[in-house]
Amino acid sequence: MAVVYAVGIGPGKPEYMTQEAADVIARCECIGGYTVYIDLVKDQYPDKEFFSTPMKKEVDRCRMALKFAQDGRDTALVCSGDAGVYGMAGLLLELLPEYPGADVQVVAGVTAATSGAAVLGAPLGHDFCIISLSNLLTPEPLIEKRLRMAAEGDFALCLYNPRSHHRKDALRKACAVLLETLSGDTVCGWVKNIGRDGMEKKVLTLRELPDEEVDMFTTVFIGSSSTRNIAGRMVTPRGYENKVD
Ligand code: SAH
Repeated sequence: MAVVYAVGIGPGKPEYMTQEAADVIARCECIGGYTVYIDLVKDQYPDKEFFSTPMKKEVDRCRMALKFAQDGRDTALVCSGDAGVYGMAGLLLELLPEYPGADVQVVAGVTAATSGAAVLGAPLGHDFCIISLSNLLTPEPLIEKRLRMAAEGDFALCLYNPRSHHRKDALRKACAVLLETLSGDTVCGWVKNIGRDGMEKKVLTLRELPDEEVDMFTTVFIGSSSTRNIAGRMVTPRGYENKVD
């Protein structure tokens, strides 16, 4: 039975890809994805058949991949980061019953939360939440409720999609909600273009964060009450130093 592999390729350059992802892509006959990600991997695999669809054509992309598998051709559908984190893995599994003879396997990748965290220090060393600020598939009141509850729970937060074409003020609005509960001194950070050329990072406070220029290739981190700025590194202690043996 031919398989569609939902493959997370990590944040950018090939060295951030897992060995499993690289092996699967090397084995598959067809490789598909969002145009930008196909361009990232295309040069490495001159012998493959590539297919891509623009952003927002996710259902078409998954159906093309499942059709290839139904025709007996192993296919890799590549996403940035992890394929199951705001990626296509779930959609492929939802559509799979319509394609008898095809199968779907998910291949884990390094998501922006962990690759970005490594750049900043260790902001996710204790309990944390990931929230996407994109209102394309989530109503805004629900995003705000999740932000509020996460702040109340004193989680460290990792925010994906802090800005999009139709929602330029997403981060500013999120900060306003968080500042209802959290101190303006809360340690925050952002990383742009993780694992790609032009990577940038900054550690700052929640009071300063709303005025930052973030884009759609930025991941934002908000500390919990125990997160510290240690010589420019964002660190949420695991608590080892307070452990009583
Ligand atoms: N599946 C992806 C997430 C897709 S949602 C993953 O697991 O990482 C898209 C959002 O992810 C972006 O708006 C940004 O917040 C984050 N992101 C993905 N790749 C990134 C990168 N290389 N650098 C910074 N942020 C990134």
